[in-house]
Amino acid sequence: MEDKRYIGHVVVLPYPGQGHINPLLQFAKRLASKGVKATLATTRYTTKSICAANVGVEPISDGFDEGGYAQVRNVDLYLKSFKANGSRTLSELIQKFRDSSSPVTCVVYDSFLPWALDVAKQHGILGASFFTNSAAVCHIFCRIHHGLLSLPLKLENSPLLIPGLPPLNKSDLPSFLRLPESYPAYLAMKLSQFSNLDGADWIFDNTFEELESEEAKGVSDLWPAKLIGPMVPSAYLDGRIEDDKGYGASLWEPLSEDCVKWLNTKPQRSVVYVSFGSMVSLTAEQMQEIARALKESDLHFLWVMKEPEQSKFPDGFVDSTKEQGLVVTWCNQLEILAHQAIGCFMTHCGWNSTLEGLSLGVPMVGVPQWADQLTDAKFLGEIWGVGVRPKEDEKGVVRKEEVVMCLKEVMVGETSEKIKKNVGKWKELAKRAVSEGGSSDKHINEFVEHLKRANE
Ligand code: UDP
Repeated sequence: MEDKRYIGHVVVLPYPGQGHINPLLQFAKRLASKGVKATLATTRYTTKSICAANVGVEPISDGFDEGGYAQVRNVDLYLKSFKANGSRTLSELIQKFRDSSSPVTCVVYDSFLPWALDVAKQHGILGASFFTNSAAVCHIFCRIHHGLLSLPLKLENSPLLIPGLPPLNKSDLPSFLRLPESYPAYLAMKLSQFSNLDGADWIFDNTFEELESEEAKGVSDLWPAKLIGPMVPSAYLDGRIEDDKGYGASLWEPLSEDCVKWLNTKPQRSVVYVSFGSMVSLTAEQMQEIARALKESDLHFLWVMKEPEQSKFPDGFVDSTKEQGLVVTWCNQLEILAHQAIGCFMTHCGWNSTLEGLSLGVPMVGVPQWADQLTDAKFLGEIWGVGVRPKEDEKGVVRKEEVVMCLKEVMVGETSEKIKKNVGKWKELAKRAVSEGGSSDKHINEFVEHLKRANE
């Protein structure tokens, strides 16, 4: 018998990367706050990193229980193993709850794991796909999957024109499309997100109508996604950060206290926060250009860089900038972005980081490295006007002088005033979208109503 305290039981299944666990866990929390029983099913290796009130956490297997993806470092092998082991263990998990007071009624699965829909259907329950990229990026891959755009893209002389999207130059396109032969496994994974969608009961995307309605509408007959973002904890959007310590998932140990103590000694809006997310590895040459730019800019900076990568800093960089900057191996990014000392976010333009900067009102310098980051950077700078993107040279490296110029543009002067106005606007719209009665909140309520009806 279903436990009547709950409106159904949703198992939420993220791909086990930081940029996927964060939004899916946040979605599980939103559902829980609306009376749904929510359980995060995540790989054995990542369960220990999750700590979330009101959301259950249950392990499933990707076949690499000791070290996850790092154990194999091959996307193709990893996904095959995850499909085989994940299907079995997800099925066992659903079975485990079958005779409890809260049987599972729906699986919300990361769009990178389309096999989860088959598992849900074998158990006769609802299945919903959750996309963690921008609508613009989903739009492009959706068109390719359906043969409306063919590879290789013809990009030599003019920008790519796609209805519903702004003209896209080669440098604005996901690297898997610019160089499809270099990333066959990643490209296959991105396209597989659309392979099993006809049977899905719902499709969600972590973006919001005010930001990307046109981008989503352009393919809505093929990809009828409900826009439900930004999946940033409401406490941060409302400026009540003392109520919340972030997403509740951290695959690395955050050095929160060190960062906040240091930021507390800095003037308002004076610090550049630099982070390239959880996966990017910069070339030594690129890292040195950025390091020299920060040093020369004379601005305070807080740079997140994992330990092995720190060997790429110029000699003596950390010691010689001790007064100016702090380098840490990992932080709670939301806590940093919400701090009043932060004046700029130098980001790799991962979709979560882009949404977080925009929703928390922090002007950005976008230095994309690969994957969808290039498209996010285009929108961040040219469409939403919340930051700038330094130009690369012919070797694909952003040089020191460019970075110094962009930092200046964002921190002081006429352009910075325009950017600040834009981030203020987007911050307000993001907050409104997820507040009661906002566009994203309404879409989540429709889903919850559907769960309620399915339960009756
Ligand atoms: N993040 C964090 N601490 C850090 C760096 C990143 O908590 O020091 C979080 C960040 O808030 C975001 C996620 O990690 O939610 C990274 O996701 P994103 O899509 O930006 O980039 P990815 O790591 O997937 O490339």
